[in-house]
Amino acid sequence: MAQKIQAIRGMNDILPEQTPYWQKLESTLRRLMDSYGYSEIRMPIVEKTNLFKRAVGEVTDIVEKEMYTFEDRNGDSLSLRPEGTASCVRAGIEHGLLYNQEQRLWYMGPMFRHERPQKGRYRQFHQLGVETFGIATADVDAELILMTARLWKELGLHDSVQLEINSLGSNEARAAYRDRLIEFLEPIKDKLDEDSQRRLMTNPLRILDSKNPEVQALVQDAPKLSDHLDEESKEHFERLRQILDANGIEYVVNTNLVRGLDYYNRTVFEWITDKLGAQGTICAGGRYDGLTEQLGGHATTASGFAMGIERIVALIEDIEPITPSVADLYLVALGDSAEVNAIQIAETLRDKIPQLRVRNNFGGGNFKKQFKRADKSGATIALVLGEQEVQEATIGIKFLREQKEQLQIPQSELVETLKSLI
Ligand code: ATP
Ligand code: MG
Repeated sequence: MAQKIQAIRGMNDILPEQTPYWQKLESTLRRLMDSYGYSEIRMPIVEKTNLFKRAVGEVTDIVEKEMYTFEDRNGDSLSLRPEGTASCVRAGIEHGLLYNQEQRLWYMGPMFRHERPQKGRYRQFHQLGVETFGIATADVDAELILMTARLWKELGLHDSVQLEINSLGSNEARAAYRDRLIEFLEPIKDKLDEDSQRRLMTNPLRILDSKNPEVQALVQDAPKLSDHLDEESKEHFERLRQILDANGIEYVVNTNLVRGLDYYNRTVFEWITDKLGAQGTICAGGRYDGLTEQLGGHATTASGFAMGIERIVALIEDIEPITPSVADLYLVALGDSAEVNAIQIAETLRDKIPQLRVRNNFGGGNFKKQFKRADKSGATIALVLGEQEVQEATIGIKFLREQKEQLQIPQSELVETLKSLI
C-alpha cells in the first residue's frame, strides 16, 4: 500500500456527523445578522503580509509568531489571514464603503494561525466577524453585545457564558498610562516571565492580560487604566453600561482586559466560559477608531467583534446532541424494473414536495438489508417497490418509527398521501 497522506496538524476535517452542528450555528448566525440589519461581505483568504503587520501590529503574538507567511511566484510576501478585521477595513477603503457613511457588516470563514494545537485552539479555525463603521457612539458597542447575548439565549448557552468589559480610553490617554505602567514594571522586571519582559518596551499593556498566574499576581497592584481614562472615554463607557443595564445584560468590569491586538481603543469586551478549559474566550471585540486611517483611508470610527466558531460548536455539542438523519423517506426497491421505477418516483417527489429529503437504495440487496439501510438513514417512512407493485402501479408505505399498519396505494395517489402524512 502507498503511504498515507495526512492533514496538516491543527487543520481539521469537519466530518458529516459534526456538520449538522455547524449548519445549525451558521443558519442561526445568518438569521441573527439579518434581524439586526447587517450585510454580509466576503474577503479573500490571502492578503499582502503588510496589511496584517500594519493593522494587527508588529509586536503582537499574531504577527510575531503565528502568521502563515510565504512568497508567491512573483516574490510578493503574502499571508493567510489570521483574522478578518484588517481585510474588512482594507476592502471597505478599496471600494469606498467607509467614507462619510455608515456600514454594518459581517463575514464568516476560516482564519489561520500557527499556534500550538490543543482543544479549542487550531491552526485553521473559523470566525464570525462583525464590523460597524461610521458610528462613534456607545449605542452601537452595546448593540454588538446585545446581539451576542441574544445568540447565547437562542443556542441555550446563556448560563454557560459571562461578559467582561473594559475601556482602554483614547489613544492619548492610553499612551500616558503606558508610561506609568512601564514606571511600575521596570523595577520588578526580573520577576516577570520572558514573554512579559519582551513586551515591557513594546506592548506593556499586554502584560496585564498575561495568562501566567505569577505575572498576574505581580500586576495586581499596577496602576489601573480605569484611573487614567480621558473624560470622553469615561462618558462613552458610562453610556455603554447604561444601555447594557437597561437591557438586563450582566457583566463584570475587568480593568485588566486589554485584548491581544493593537488596534483597539475605548470599549473592549470578551465573552468567556468555564466549560472549555483554558480556551475559554468564545467572542471578543471592541472599538477601533484609528484603524481605517492607519490603513490609508479617511478617519472612520469603527467597532466590532469576532467569535470562535469551533469553541461555540463544542459548547452546543455538549448540550443538545443532534441525532444524525439524512433522509425523511427511503425508497426500497427489489428487482431491475423496480429499481428504475424507484428513481423516477424519487425525482417526482423532489419536484412535488421539495422540502422532503429522499434517499434511494442503490446497489441492490434483499429486503432485510435494504430496511437496515433505511433505518440507518434516519428516515421515518420507507416506500416499498417490488416487481408486483411496478406491474400494478402501486407502492407500499411502511412506517419505520411508529407501530402503524403498512399502506398499499396506487402510485398516482402517492404525493397526496405523503403530504397528508408529513
Ligand atoms: P486567545 O486568547 O484564545 O488566543 P485571541 O485573543 O487570540 O484568543 P482573537 O484574535 O480576538 O482571539 O479572536 C477572536 C476569537 O476567535 C477568540 O475569542 C476565539 O474564540 C477564537 N480563536 C482565536 N484563535 C483561535 C484558534 N487558534 N483556534 C480556535 N479559535 C480561536
Ligand atoms: Mg491568540
